[in-house]
Amino acid sequence: MIITLKNIVKEEDLILLRTNLEKENISFINLPGDNLNLYLSGNISKLDKKSLLAYPFIEKVTALTSPLRKVSRVLQPEDVIIRIGNLDVGQKNRVIIIAGPCAVESREQILLIAEKAKELGADMLRGGAYKPRTSPYAFRGLEEEGIRLLSEAGKKYNLPVVSELTTADNIDLFTKYVDLIQIGSRNMQNYELLKAVGKVNKPILLKRGYAATVEEWLLAAEYIMNEGNQNVILCERGIRTFENATRNTLDLSAVPLIKEISPLPIIVDPSHGTGKWSLVEPMSLAAIASGADGLIIEIHQDPEHALSDGGQSLTLENFTKLMKKGKLVAHALDKELGHD
Ligand code: PEP
Ligand code: MN
Repeated sequence: MIITLKNIVKEEDLILLRTNLEKENISFINLPGDNLNLYLSGNISKLDKKSLLAYPFIEKVTALTSPLRKVSRVLQPEDVIIRIGNLDVGQKNRVIIIAGPCAVESREQILLIAEKAKELGADMLRGGAYKPRTSPYAFRGLEEEGIRLLSEAGKKYNLPVVSELTTADNIDLFTKYVDLIQIGSRNMQNYELLKAVGKVNKPILLKRGYAATVEEWLLAAEYIMNEGNQNVILCERGIRTFENATRNTLDLSAVPLIKEISPLPIIVDPSHGTGKWSLVEPMSLAAIASGADGLIIEIHQDPEHALSDGGQSLTLENFTKLMKKGKLVAHALDKELGHD
């Protein structure tokens, strides 16, 4: 609920209003702008709108029709910048690049990919260790060992690391070794997991559920932020539609749409978004043009023999080409991509 004050409001009026509302377990904050709009939270369901209008200094009372609160630009109009190590995600003039294998497969593999990713200009290293695979018989990751290897590779090449957390039982392991905790598409509506990472002092990469609307996705972010953790980066990774020529339908319109609604950074995953390596470069360029704050890309030294998602992973050569073209598109928009 939002209260709009008349211009005549005095300090003592506000103190009286605050005291009266506090008795009903309601608090308010000033919305950014002219200080005439107050955002009420707490026990507002029982609040009588008419009783508020009885105050002579209240102009109007507006019930919010959208359930979006903390994720919305209404409460936070300025872009949110999220710091991961020395990296700032969400800056207007930067496109960050996260690259790495779908899954950490071995020490040699992750060290080699980390070295190349760094050399080719990536800002962060990805690598799954707890893989939620559709088939229980597929490779499901090296688990704790994979997290340790990812962390070792990230430290060696000075790249912050991101990996997917699938259960709250592993939170201590992830807070120790991982710089950005990923919540995968399949778990976007696992509300207990969302609440658990909301209590953690680490940024969260929240992937869009493959059957989630933009509003459901933002409400999932709201679950995290409600527990205290305000550092949420959104990731568009495609949704399931009737189209089956691609693995998912990458919804790039979600990028500018989210930018209108929410101040949170948004990055794009064209690898899971398309499922085909040949589509990753064009969709990456389109994602940059759409205003994405970054990309997360699967790369592999030998995609044909990758233990998971080889068909959508770029070779190191193709990743090199993508970085080159990506810089051109980013520069056309006055942005820097990756690091030099
Ligand atoms: C991943 O990034 O490794 C992954 C499994 O992605 P998603 O949750 O988007 O399917
Ligand atoms: Mn994958």
